[in-house]
Amino acid sequence: MKRIIFFDAKPYDHEFFDAANRRHGYEIKYIPNRLSADNAPSAAGYDAVCAFVNDDLSAPVAAILHRNNIRIIAMRCAGYNNVDLNSVFGKIHVVRVPAYSPYAVAEHAVALIMALNRKTHKAYNRTRDSNFSLSGLLGFDLHGKTAGIIGTGRIGQVLAGILKGFGMRVLAFDRFPKTDWAAGAGVEYVELDELYCQSDIISLHCPLTPETKYMINEESLSRMKDGVMLINTSRGGLIQTQALIDALKNLKIGAAGLDVYEEEDGYFFEDWSGEVLTDDVLARLFTFPNVLVTAHQAFFTREALRNIAETTLANLEAFFQNGRLDNEICYRCTKEACPRKKEGACF
Ligand code: NAD
Repeated sequence: MKRIIFFDAKPYDHEFFDAANRRHGYEIKYIPNRLSADNAPSAAGYDAVCAFVNDDLSAPVAAILHRNNIRIIAMRCAGYNNVDLNSVFGKIHVVRVPAYSPYAVAEHAVALIMALNRKTHKAYNRTRDSNFSLSGLLGFDLHGKTAGIIGTGRIGQVLAGILKGFGMRVLAFDRFPKTDWAAGAGVEYVELDELYCQSDIISLHCPLTPETKYMINEESLSRMKDGVMLINTSRGGLIQTQALIDALKNLKIGAAGLDVYEEEDGYFFEDWSGEVLTDDVLARLFTFPNVLVTAHQAFFTREALRNIAETTLANLEAFFQNGRLDNEICYRCTKEACPRKKEGACF
């Protein structure tokens, strides 16, 4: 029987993976702590490691796993910016779940937009306190406004469809434009500059890469419309948080909905309610009435968790049974020249 060790495993992981594992019969060990150099040696004797978005898969940790004969890491997520692909190349295969529910993430982006616009988070508290005043709750019609979507992959495309349903004009930017889809969906691809200066709402859906790191910075913020709403359900590192704070202070940004934060791995997914928050940047974000932070929950629907569990275990089954690497992420294929990328083989 193959043995899999899970890091950063929460009770909901147990529930959905145990259910999916009824069809596989693997021996699963759930470790609540995040993978780190300290606990990586506990992977000794297992056939696979299963990791999540904030597990440490840097070169030193990967070296420990390799020394302990781990040959495959199954990421139970889509993003893989926490994996040092260069250092694992040729040593440990890495597979992931490229698509589990683009609807979950796109719908959460819409939830952030709607809450920030109509201030339902404030109204909820007010009415419970018998405060029925409407002052400060004024929103705007989405109908007729312009949304700018950066990254039109699976999630960006679903979001575009929902926003079109609201009657919005949708602009998009993508490094690899999907022109057929855009024509059918009534979406206009534009250059980033144009997207920044025309959009009333900007939503980020591209991956975090060296190229996209801090793409939202002082300079790009200065090109946006005054009062723009910024939504990030992708990765925290896309936004230089201090620049965002400055833009909130000088009213350039009208509202920010953040499901991800560049330093989230210290806090997100854990209950810190009884502790002192030592991250002053995160603490500053909480002082703005027009900032809504959720703790990386955009993916968190029943459908998504079911798909994540099934695909993760199917990825491992394919590897264990015949060495097939479904949904592999490999260093070479992240390079544009790789022919397998065009076939959608592993990127
Ligand atoms: P995807 O791979 O289907 O789409 C990403 C798109 O970004 C592609 O169209 C790609 O061409 C484009 N892109 C790549 N580099 C770009 C650049 N420099 N500028 C503009 N566009 C660029 O991915 P997806 O499934 O739509 O997911 C998007 C991101 O959402 C993931 O990378 C992940 O970080 C994040 N995500 C977050 C959650 C969450 O719970 N908050 C859940 C899943 C995914």
